[in-house]
Amino acid sequence: MKKSAALPVITTRLLDWYKENKRDLPWRETTDAYSVWISEVILQQTRVAQGSDYYVRFMRRFPNVHLLAEANEQEVLKLWQGLGYYSRARNMHAAAKQIVSRFNGRFPSHYSDILSLKGIGAYTAAAITSIAFNGPFAVVDGNVFRVIARLFAIETPIHTSDGIKTITEIAQQLIDRDHPGTYNQGIMDFGSVICTPRQPKCADCPLQSACMAYSLRRVADFPVINRKNTIKNRYFNYFHIVDGDKTYLQKRDHADIWKNLYEFPLIETSSPVDFMQLEQMPEFRDLFSGIPSLSVDYPLTLKHQLTHQVIHTNFYRVIIPDQFTYRQSQPVISVEKANLSDYPISRLTHKYLETI
Ligand code: SF4
Repeated sequence: MKKSAALPVITTRLLDWYKENKRDLPWRETTDAYSVWISEVILQQTRVAQGSDYYVRFMRRFPNVHLLAEANEQEVLKLWQGLGYYSRARNMHAAAKQIVSRFNGRFPSHYSDILSLKGIGAYTAAAITSIAFNGPFAVVDGNVFRVIARLFAIETPIHTSDGIKTITEIAQQLIDRDHPGTYNQGIMDFGSVICTPRQPKCADCPLQSACMAYSLRRVADFPVINRKNTIKNRYFNYFHIVDGDKTYLQKRDHADIWKNLYEFPLIETSSPVDFMQLEQMPEFRDLFSGIPSLSVDYPLTLKHQLTHQVIHTNFYRVIIPDQFTYRQSQPVISVEKANLSDYPISRLTHKYLETI
């Protein structure tokens, strides 16, 4: 590869390292914008090994933006099941429709047009623009934050607006403007293979002599993180109703986690409660009106960690006696047990079903 004239030494060493160590990944066989987009969205918050399988399956089913735009949302969510962060899939589906309606089905090539699509932020727009269209936009993801914070021993906490601004400016100065996509992929790979969050491989690092954190013997001090603890605890009580061959689901259609996914009827409480307390609640009486005697299994308790929330969950298996007819009311729907797998569900519900 031809190198641009006066590139910073960090950039040239990164490019050399990447040339030797580039990983063979399915999305690296193409610079097609649609493929780059799908891979970038799948890889947000997902490990490369897990993301690769999803990418291959997704591209097989939706090889172009038209097919994705025409798809039924339930099918898109079903294909996404297990990856979590379902808003990514819903936004991607909406953005595919925008590309068809606003850009005649051609993926836009300008950074600002790409950034205007639903669910695409600065990181993804920079990745697509640089890899597919050679646009000189530096990506700044978690890997880039860490690598730059260590190389320049940046004392400003990285999640503050000053920290983001400083690191974005440095990333922009380091980019190889002739090969921005290669540079961007190189620094991200370098962060995930060499300059890792824990135990970075400083002894093998080609940037060691340029690294301020290393020369100060303070690698463990960077990046500086000063994030307030904003974790919220939530308490979900699910009812897996067994009614002969049927069970019951409801769709989460409000602005919250797992929008448009299905789940068992739920009562959310503000603190942990036991079954006797649940029985006293009006929501419980609405759910089981007309059924005086229920057979209930002890709850299966699962804890589910999301980025900013911990969901403490009790799954109760409730058996409707033969002599009663369960009459569900909106929004609960009746589902044949054999058809349960047709519905997109959260990873938490999936975990429960696997356990039982
Ligand atoms: S010397 Fe260590 S801390 Fe510095 S860039 Fe290399 S791996 Fe990261």
